[in-house]
Amino acid sequence: MTKNIVVLGSLNVDNIMKMPRMPLVGETMALTDVTTAPGGKGANQAVAAARQGANVSFIGSVGNDSNGQFMRATLLSNGVNVNAVTTNSEVPTGSAYIMLQENGANTILIHGGANQALTVADLDENVIAKADTLIAQFEVPLEVIVAAFKIAKANNVQTILNPAPAVYDLIPELTHVTDIILPNETEAQLLTGITVENNEAVLNRVSNAILAKGVPRSIITLGDAGSFVADRDKRWWVKPNKVDAVDTTGAGDTFIGTLASVIDADFNNLEETVKRASIASAIAVTRAGAIPSIPTRDEVDAF
Ligand code: ADP
Repeated sequence: MTKNIVVLGSLNVDNIMKMPRMPLVGETMALTDVTTAPGGKGANQAVAAARQGANVSFIGSVGNDSNGQFMRATLLSNGVNVNAVTTNSEVPTGSAYIMLQENGANTILIHGGANQALTVADLDENVIAKADTLIAQFEVPLEVIVAAFKIAKANNVQTILNPAPAVYDLIPELTHVTDIILPNETEAQLLTGITVENNEAVLNRVSNAILAKGVPRSIITLGDAGSFVADRDKRWWVKPNKVDAVDTTGAGDTFIGTLASVIDADFNNLEETVKRASIASAIAVTRAGAIPSIPTRDEVDAF
């Protein structure tokens, strides 16, 4: 059965600036290259779910500018419905400035723009009520996420929270309307105050701390160490798929979009779903970029 997924989140244009090294304060330095790419965790996760065959609608906001048109076109060309994306004439479309050094290290600046100007009034209640699953990240205002999750739970819609970046606390108002939370290891550490290590005892402690905040299930993604799943009865470590990683950008977003596209309403198939999400994200890390690297359902089946 095809799932109906709504993604509430960010739409950013990424400006990728290649440079030999970081400039010093006061220095003027030539870039080696500049490229732009569609991005924002919301956009990445929506495309990931759509490539896995889900019906996806986006709730978000762009500015009245060419970047906004570019982001709408990107979603549309990936089969994502943009009827609930609003245009805000007061602020520009969200943007990210990625300083990529020759040695591969990157430093990122973000301007939230229209993402941060999103309000509860931008939420289309009917769109949320008709979904099977609602996904949100932390790149739009917290009160909008809380309001959307409340509408979702009032309508029996499953809620998936990706607390990324970890800029808000896990307040009870949010955790009590969240069905599953997926932080990466950095976010898990920031949210719990526990230093995450790849050993079962520590991961159990971190999971306990997250579940104690009121969310019934968590999946901590651990990069090339896989992921650690916890609910109130069970814990298990999903080992990573061995691949040659080229670019890990968008790995977590691919994981979440894929998970949302196959998870059933009562989480009965969580185990096989996490395996599938791990395969999709392993494929994504073998390719460059975020959105271009996200695999299709057929590619995941073939892995
Ligand atoms: P994020 O992109 O949010 O930081 P992670 O880096 O934790 O997320 O990656 C998400 C998932 O992608 C991991 O749980 C794992 O399944 C997969 N993954 C990430 N990096 C690799 C890798 N080098 N090899 C195989 N799988 C990977």
